[in-house]
Amino acid sequence: MKHFALIGWPLGHSLSVPIHRALMRRAGIDGDYILKEIAPEDLPRAVGELKKLDGFNVTIPHKIEILPYLCALGEKAELFGAVNTVAVKDGQLYGENTDCLGFLKGLQIAGMKLEGRVLLCGAGGAARMAAFEAAMAGAELTIAARSVQKAEALAAEVQKKTGKTAAACALRAADGSFDLIVNATPCGMFPHTDECPLGETVIARAKGVFDMIYNPQETKLLATARAAGAKTANGLTMLAGQAAAAETIWNGIPFTNEDILAAAKAARKELETK
Ligand code: NAP
Repeated sequence: MKHFALIGWPLGHSLSVPIHRALMRRAGIDGDYILKEIAPEDLPRAVGELKKLDGFNVTIPHKIEILPYLCALGEKAELFGAVNTVAVKDGQLYGENTDCLGFLKGLQIAGMKLEGRVLLCGAGGAARMAAFEAAMAGAELTIAARSVQKAEALAAEVQKKTGKTAAACALRAADGSFDLIVNATPCGMFPHTDECPLGETVIARAKGVFDMIYNPQETKLLATARAAGAKTANGLTMLAGQAAAAETIWNGIPFTNEDILAAAKAARKELETK
């Protein structure tokens, strides 16, 4: 039996367990997936135990702190300077970042493309990944954050790393017609479900809205966009997509969109029974 885990602090309730278990079941992998809470100061001591696993996912606050313990980084982990997936081989740790693959998979399953005018809300970890991907895909990117300085800093980093320019503005000043809006802020997430990162006018003009939030499954942002006739998608398929990409790294088995949708369904069921 293979052993996998998610490390982070605090972890509370995580949808990663039902998602990975559903993926392994579909792929016929004899494995388990558990949560391992590791406080920031305990990470150095925990590395020895982690090396006994076959692989693990990494979430806040260890995504950058794990870097010194890795012997090699995949292309995306190198680009983002952050790791969410570690494979263990012969006692050595190899890091990769599958968040971007999950993001691209979520968009693909929803029939959305990172092209044309894209408005990205947020300037944190997930926004950083989405900004690089949108720039590399050739989108005309605007980054909107509640702090315009943070949006400008991310736009400058995008330019430095990809050579592509991105506009920056404050969230409250975001305006215009966009082919795609991507929300990478927690604004609107449970329990603050009456909040919305953008004004109604800009939402109503968008052709598509992808919200990385999955609890609730339809945020105020998505409900407003849907009422205005836009295509909408939440972050569940993104979450299942990054998990599937991690399972592929660990076990060498590819997953279809149907597998990812089945894993997202298992997560939805878990959310609904909570
Ligand atoms: P993060 O690094 O903490 O960044 C959060 C960003 O959102 C920052 O730019 C922050 O601004 C901004 N923000 C926080 N609260 C806000 C509010 N009330 N209004 C407007 N902006 C606000 O977090 P993250 O890891 O990037 O995650 C962001 C969101 O994406 C979370 O909801 C997370 O659950 C979701 N996510 C989903 C997936 C998935 O697989 N579906 C994967 C990753 C993340 P300041 O810098 O000013 O604080």
